[in-house]
Amino acid sequence: MSLLSVICPCYNEEESVALFYRELMKNTEYFQSQNVEMELIYIDDGSKDGTVAEVKKLISEDERVHLVSFSRNFGKEAAMYAGFEKAKGDYIVTMDVDLQDPPSLLPEMFGYIKNGYDSVATRRVSRKGEPPIRSFFARMFYRIMKKISKTEIMDGARDYRLMTRQMVDAILSMTEYNRFTKGIFGWVGFRTKWIEFENVERAKGETKWNFWKLFLYSLDGITAFSTAPLMLASMMGVFFCVLAFLMIVFIIVRKLIFGDPVSGWPSLVCIILLTSGVQFFCTGILGQYLAKTYMEVKRRPIYLVREEL
Ligand code: UDP
Ligand code: MG
Repeated sequence: MSLLSVICPCYNEEESVALFYRELMKNTEYFQSQNVEMELIYIDDGSKDGTVAEVKKLISEDERVHLVSFSRNFGKEAAMYAGFEKAKGDYIVTMDVDLQDPPSLLPEMFGYIKNGYDSVATRRVSRKGEPPIRSFFARMFYRIMKKISKTEIMDGARDYRLMTRQMVDAILSMTEYNRFTKGIFGWVGFRTKWIEFENVERAKGETKWNFWKLFLYSLDGITAFSTAPLMLASMMGVFFCVLAFLMIVFIIVRKLIFGDPVSGWPSLVCIILLTSGVQFFCTGILGQYLAKTYMEVKRRPIYLVREEL
């Protein structure tokens, strides 16, 4: 018998916990026929509602269910990392509790693993039911990432992924504090099969992400997997030096031909504003990377456990 570990991060999801359990366990028969047992690990990411109580109810009924409860909200990335650490399975899958990652896809995914793939990843081909402005920025993010990062990050990729033990061990070897799991999956490599599905809307409750949070998260993704913005700072520096040099030549030549050196105060102000703006912008980019480095060198734990069952 081999073991499949299902990792499920939850943050204030009391309505979804039991619903997810029922949907997931519909696969029990299939996996039994494949000689695979299941374990389900709920990672409670510091929920303030009845999520923990709901999970405990399930634990009292089914010994396949486990709980890791954080001391506070550490974010989904930390929750997934904790799940990878706690999972004992030969195969490991991460899934959202809100049923946006359909458990009915698991048999198909497992089939590919049996055929020799190391991981089966999912991406949604539509963004139906999502605010258009959000879809637009999401698409932009993936397009920029494709250009500036060597790591492959698929448009519409979800964190819903079935992996072998070997791949999860590789992910665990990346102990960085600023975790951008979509990038980490791509970075570790291995043979990955992509399968596509139509976007499913959340079953219960509401999303934990607003536009601003997603925007900051995308900046995390960029700084974690690309140093191209730093390059941008140097390139702008070079560009403005060349521009300044041409201007100097122009002014000297004009003075020699026409005389009259004192004019052009407005243009001077514009130039100062522009260049100082660019300088602040570049210092800001430096600051972003410095801040990430600062958090990284502290080597703080990625999560803290309050209770484990
Ligand atoms: N989640 C989490 N910690 C957080 C935010 C979210 O563990 O700080 C979990 C959440 O419970 C859900 C999954 O991450 O299982 C995805 O969150 P959500 O559905 O809100 O995101 P969306 O699908 O809207 O991108
Ligand atoms: Mg969701």
